[in-house]
Amino acid sequence: MKCIICGNEIKKYGNNPYPISKDGECCNECNLNAVVPYRIFLNSIEKKNIALLIKTDGTIEIVKPKEKYFSLKELQKCVDGYIEIGQQVFEEYLTVVNEEGLLLKLPFNNLFYQLYGIKFYGNVLICPLNIFEKPEE
Ligand SMILES: [Zn+2]
Repeated sequence: MKCIICGNEIKKYGNNPYPISKDGECCNECNLNAVVPYRIFLNSIEKKNIALLIKTDGTIEIVKPKEKYFSLKELQKCVDGYIEIGQQVFEEYLTVVNEEGLLLKLPFNNLFYQLYGIKFYGNVLICPLNIFEKPEE
């Protein structure tokens, strides 16, 4: 059987890929590096204190700002370049993408497409408005 997330052959036992996929099974790597962090994120979505980095290598990372808010540098590091706000996928969360993803020929973000049916090139950060940027004083 093939992993529903990465497409690799599953050795021995598969895992439940929910909520990334409702069907099929996923491999241990995808379970550990995508399904588990995604569940953690969804479980605390109401708290709006963690961001989710969906990477082009098919992994998902929980990201927190060093201080109370993300600095522009931190955001740029997540998407490997200049940031742009993309199509929203969660209420009160911004979708932060690389402004030049296609131009820079960054890899297609297959996992993000699998989750939300939206096409982006490069890593995508789903960031609560709460911690996106320090408000102007
Ligand atoms: Zn996999």
